[in-house]
Amino acid sequence: MYDDDNIFAKILRNEIPCKKFYEDEFSLFFYDIAPQAKIHILGIPKFKCVDLGDFISKADKNLVTIFFKNISLVVEKLNVNTTGYRIVSNAGKDGGQEVPHFHIHILAGEKIGPLR
Ligand code: AMP
Repeated sequence: MYDDDNIFAKILRNEIPCKKFYEDEFSLFFYDIAPQAKIHILGIPKFKCVDLGDFISKADKNLVTIFFKNISLVVEKLNVNTTGYRIVSNAGKDGGQEVPHFHIHILAGEKIGPLR
């Protein structure tokens, strides 16, 4: 079940500030507060969903398309589409998810190490 008090829900309600990189009607991309790479951006849909599965099963398919197109747009805006990047989405306990609002991490700006 979605927790309305999670940090990203508060960011979406402007109750907590964030350093925005890109925003539109459907999604918000902002800098991670504890970056794991030179460039570390988080992308979230403006839709109450806990993880990828929840997003795909509940969101309108246009919203799903727009969100993934926006990830690609942000990668272009970051100018890392030629140098490379990694996209990660943690889900649940085993995935190490800390914030229960679906999000993707975009890691770039340097050689990103092995997955684990
Ligand atoms: P995850 O472990 O996949 O749930 O990732 C949650 C991410 O959110 C971590 O990389 C945190 O550093 C990041 N984070 C937590 N609080 C904030 C915040 N207020 N602003 C930006 N990033 C945050």
